[in-house]
Amino acid sequence: MTKESPTIGVLALQGAVREHAAALRSAGAAVEMVKWPGQLAGIDGLIIPGGESTTIGKLMVKYGFIQTIRDFAASGRPVYGSCAGLIAVAKKITEGSDPWLELMDIEARRNAFGRQQESFEAELDIPVLGATFTGIFIRAPWIEIAGPGVDVLAEFDGHKIMAREKNILVTAFHPELTNDTRIHEYFLSMINERTQ
Ligand code: GLN
Repeated sequence: MTKESPTIGVLALQGAVREHAAALRSAGAAVEMVKWPGQLAGIDGLIIPGGESTTIGKLMVKYGFIQTIRDFAASGRPVYGSCAGLIAVAKKITEGSDPWLELMDIEARRNAFGRQQESFEAELDIPVLGATFTGIFIRAPWIEIAGPGVDVLAEFDGHKIMAREKNILVTAFHPELTNDTRIHEYFLSMINERTQ
């Protein structure tokens, strides 16, 4: 690949699409708003934003994204799911709906932090960033079970809230709602790992 800066697609069906696009641009990437499966051919990585996983899932089915995103991930290109995006890539969803993309060997529990804690901020210790990061959680899931091939990158209150399995990255929180672009930079580094 000879391009100077990678082009990252943000799945633009529902949810925090613009915020991810802004964070990616600040982190130095070109951004494509992905509304049709054909656009996946021209991008180097894909973000599935937070929002409502059932809505995003149904729209992915309706517009023919399921197999296209599976093929995209199988080609080795990185995929990052935040919050509802974490649920969208999980192999299993606890006590509930069928999974959507089944890209990552995790079981996701939706709205896991309960009603009292619908949304909150927490200082997270994230060793791959070499420092703490302010996590914004909004009706967030957690990773109930992570398979043996999954690296858990951060926990909060004893619950797994950031993980990576090969080219798939997930966070239960919303880094795009802060001005801190380090998680997006980490995702871009996953693309560079691949192209080097
Ligand atoms: N609770 C939402 C769901 O289950 C996720 C919330 C979010 O993405 N902020 O889909």
